[in-house]
Amino acid sequence: ERIISSEANQFDEQFELSLRPQKLTQYIGQHKVKESLNIFIEAAKLRKESLDHVLLYGPPGLGKTTLATIISNEMDVNIRLTSGPAIERPGDLAAIVSSLEPGDVLFIDEIHRLPRAIEEVLYPAMEDFCLDIVVGKGPEARSIRLDLPPFTLVGATTRAGALSAPLRDRFGVLLRLDFYDEASLEEIVLRSSQLFDIEIDRLAAREIACRSRGTPRIANRLLKRVRDYAQVIGDGSISHTLANQALELLQVDPRGLDHVDHKLLVSMIERFRGGPVGLDTIAASIGEERLTIEDVYEPYLMQMGFIQRTPRGRIATKLAYDHFGYTYPEQT
Ligand code: ATP
Repeated sequence: ERIISSEANQFDEQFELSLRPQKLTQYIGQHKVKESLNIFIEAAKLRKESLDHVLLYGPPGLGKTTLATIISNEMDVNIRLTSGPAIERPGDLAAIVSSLEPGDVLFIDEIHRLPRAIEEVLYPAMEDFCLDIVVGKGPEARSIRLDLPPFTLVGATTRAGALSAPLRDRFGVLLRLDFYDEASLEEIVLRSSQLFDIEIDRLAAREIACRSRGTPRIANRLLKRVRDYAQVIGDGSISHTLANQALELLQVDPRGLDHVDHKLLVSMIERFRGGPVGLDTIAASIGEERLTIEDVYEPYLMQMGFIQRTPRGRIATKLAYDHFGYTYPEQT
């Protein structure tokens, strides 16, 4: 398990629950998203209507589930949490939506993994708040229409492109979450420290923020591990020097890269002269799945400017060469 993985692991759950902001004002960063949501929520409240369906997309760990919970709190309604792969049959969806109260939020994580047959049942539910379900089999089969209370579907996905166009078009509000800047992550670390009664100085919080790959989930996880270190090695308070020592021990470098990123970039530089090299070739050379590289490692490395995507394959940039102390080859 990589400490800088943006996917949640079994140890994150409890910690994350207690850190989750409950209101929009407590949600740090993502100003554009917050601003739009605030307007849509206030407008829906004024009209006494349910909020339009919302699609949240962006890399894992940036706060999609948190935002869905905030939407339900701000609208003062309940939230039902589920995920695309968990809804296997139309009956599963029918059971969930028919138990909603008017205005409730239904959150479907990984909505791009919803089976096609379910998607089709979802369309009338989203558009007209009704469900057409077939009961019985063969000549006995008949379709019955179930009326539903108006509800808000909040879909979350890491791959907006993988969503079918008809499904995407049924969302009234589309919001993209971006990686967080260092100042926002620093604020998140300070907020989490306060909630957990951890003494930390601002420079230490900034150090953790810099190494968190633009992702609150990673920032909180690193904070937790640095706190362990501070309690065992020091008196529990986190100074800049102590944070640096702990992060060194965790093998997360000052730009938030770990051994897997190192392996990937160094392999591109040493074996493929910096590219262009195809994703499948990179995957084979470091023994990872192509999809994992594309979804998990690459977005941050591209965001940081270490990798560029070209029609002929990926290339390692000058920044990557400099970071690992290699001489950048003169371009011919
Ligand atoms: P995934 O889809 O992988 O579950 P996610 O995008 O839904 O990820 P969350 O579970 O919402 O991510 O957030 C991860 C953690 O980061 C939560 O504990 C939450 O407290 C924290 N967090 C996320 N965004 C913010 C924010 N803007 N301000 C403060 N904390 C945040």
